[in-house]
Amino acid sequence: MQIAANNPNNKSWLNVAEGCDFPIQNIPFGVFITKDDIITIGTRIGEYAIDLGAFHQLGYFEGIPLTDDMFMQDSLNDFISDGRKTWRLVRNRIAEIFDSKNERLKNNLKHQEVIIFDVNEVEMLLPISVGDYTDFYSSKEHATNVGIMFRGAENALMPNWLHMPIGYHGRSSSVVVSGTKIRRPYGQILPAGETQPVFMPTSAMDMELETAFITTDVNNLGERVSVEEAGEYIFGMVLFNDWSARDIQKWEYVPLGPFLGKSFASSMSPWIITMDALEPFKCNGPKQEFTPLPYLQQESTENSYDIKLKASVETENGDLNLLTETNFKHLYWTMSQQLAYHTSNGCNVRAGDLLGSGTISGPTKNSYGSMLELTWGGKEPITLKDGTKRTFFNDGDHVIIRGYCKDDKVRIGFGKCTGKIMPSIEPKHIK
Ligand code: MN
Repeated sequence: MQIAANNPNNKSWLNVAEGCDFPIQNIPFGVFITKDDIITIGTRIGEYAIDLGAFHQLGYFEGIPLTDDMFMQDSLNDFISDGRKTWRLVRNRIAEIFDSKNERLKNNLKHQEVIIFDVNEVEMLLPISVGDYTDFYSSKEHATNVGIMFRGAENALMPNWLHMPIGYHGRSSSVVVSGTKIRRPYGQILPAGETQPVFMPTSAMDMELETAFITTDVNNLGERVSVEEAGEYIFGMVLFNDWSARDIQKWEYVPLGPFLGKSFASSMSPWIITMDALEPFKCNGPKQEFTPLPYLQQESTENSYDIKLKASVETENGDLNLLTETNFKHLYWTMSQQLAYHTSNGCNVRAGDLLGSGTISGPTKNSYGSMLELTWGGKEPITLKDGTKRTFFNDGDHVIIRGYCKDDKVRIGFGKCTGKIMPSIEPKHIK
């Protein structure tokens, strides 16, 4: 049965420009602060930010079991914890009230004044208090490319890769909302041809074009969820830039994997797009060439999503340079497989946990999701519109990731995930 809010014929009484990422069929969730310093959970239609705290107070969620302060919070964690049934009721109600045929709020200017804001007049905040952050490595193209560069073509894809969604535990404290400036990190680096490392700013500042999904409470410690059930626990998705310092990463990653080369920052887009909104864009992912063990086998089809993704860099003169275009559907391991795998040892996954896809690289050279791959380890620099070259990013570069789904009727977009690179700070205590 079609989710009411997804009806492509729905039209809002709020103006939505052609090609906008946020038609009435989207109804994402985020957290923002108004000019009057009110922090609230909200949604977005067109260029309007909608205060769901005020919306709830004024009775528009009547009949839906919600605590009074459910939306007057600085994170979505409690709402996410309420589960899919509540998310769907809330999203459907918003679709109903903002539908052009519904007169209730449309004809109440007093209510509109406290509920509806110009999106440019609010500041988006991190939408969740990130519990645990895990990053996967689920693009076969990305894993193969990095493997070739770090270990050579013979050992590119490690033997375990086709048997499990490889991942690592990331750092949640440094997950920041889109727009937050990113400081170039210092780290221990082994210069080419040297035997002694030095402590210096990274000269291999890279992006990782990813998406991430946010879960509700999945399992108690010691329990697990099956791959077929796992999708029920996923609230929604965001665009995600898992910033990486490749020179630091290269020296530190043996034998325990990524650490300080990754943990200095990861950026996420502010609006969480619900899995309900993405439902019409389900599609098949790549055929898994090796049948995984039964606990990772998915009987259902259409386990991936057709989400078009691109990354650009804006230089300080304002030029926008497209770096890559790829698609979520290239990922080899599905989100359900990632989540089932994550809980398979009994590790509990909680509401507000963030699980990154890993860099999403496509099959062709212009679809790679990192500068490491796009410039092939720095050997093939990219020339930008202003004539300057990049192997990795310079200070002042503004990296912009965008993503959207589209069919002939509806476009569901993610907005953008951006971060501008700031020069590193000379550590005072270093001689
Ligand atoms: Mn990553």
